[in-house]
Amino acid sequence: MSKLLIVGTVAFDAIQTPFGKTDKILGGAATYIGLSASNFNIPSAIVSVVGEDFPEEYLKMLKDKNIDTSAIEVVKGGKTFFWSGRYHNDLNSRDSLDTQLNVLADFNPVVPENYKDAEIVMLGNLHPLVQLSVLEQMTTKPKLVVLDTMNFWMEEPFMNDLKKIIAKVDVITINDEEARQLSGEYSLVKAARVIEEMGPKYIVIKKGEHGALLFHEDQIFFAPALPLEEVFDPTGAGDTFAGGFSGYLTKSQDISFENMKIAIIHGSNLASFCVEKFGTERMENLDKAEVQKRLQEFKELTQFEIELA
Ligand code: AMP
Repeated sequence: MSKLLIVGTVAFDAIQTPFGKTDKILGGAATYIGLSASNFNIPSAIVSVVGEDFPEEYLKMLKDKNIDTSAIEVVKGGKTFFWSGRYHNDLNSRDSLDTQLNVLADFNPVVPENYKDAEIVMLGNLHPLVQLSVLEQMTTKPKLVVLDTMNFWMEEPFMNDLKKIIAKVDVITINDEEARQLSGEYSLVKAARVIEEMGPKYIVIKKGEHGALLFHEDQIFFAPALPLEEVFDPTGAGDTFAGGFSGYLTKSQDISFENMKIAIIHGSNLASFCVEKFGTERMENLDKAEVQKRLQEFKELTQFEIELA
């Protein structure tokens, strides 16, 4: 069976939405990616770092989902990465109020021996040099490398390092605002073209409640987001999407454009659960039947017969 190697933050988040706020809760890009990908019952491992303040029970929860956490380094006396964000009323945009890199600032990732030949590598959001280092440690060229990043790394002093890793990946997943910032183009079609020139052959642009676009050469695929009655907290939706996308591709062992379309539906489907509760709560308690039921809803939402003249 194929393996999925995941890199990204494992973090404390403090979140404010129009519906309430949280104290420090479990968050981080790799946490959401891992939880999402675990729905495909594939071997997966997370490379990350936390401080001594990180509760053992969180690591246990990830282990219980069959995620290999042996490469999550615990730094003695160190403080875990902390992020705080506030969502606007539309829930589609947010401001980062605070980002404290803490132990992430001097992190040297070590890829476990048995994951140096992982077929799919999911480079989740964190320092671009950490993403680069992980890729350089692979002894067998991965079948597919997927990169997720955010605006924080598109500014000085990180931008040059970000460009280096973008040049080395097959797929990039970013949101619409970040695609515009990275490319300098307002039109997402033009933005995707500019980003393709930077390296990735596939560009996924996430548009929150407005779905996601996949670009590859002159082909475009669009998947809507499922219209939901209740959205409490969009935190981690992008990472959950990336986890569903890369998890499904690992499971199906098919990285064609046609199969990536299905991967996008799985990503969107899992992300629709993530936003229903604060933090990781919904993703920690998700059962197979509800995932399948919502996939069926997705199918009904998007399927139609039309006669062309
Ligand atoms: P998303 O909502 O999918 O964009 O991801 C939210 C998660 O990203 C939160 O759980 C944060 O801990 C994490 N995060 C926020 N800022 C950063 C950053 N600059 N680098 C890495 N992870 C971050």
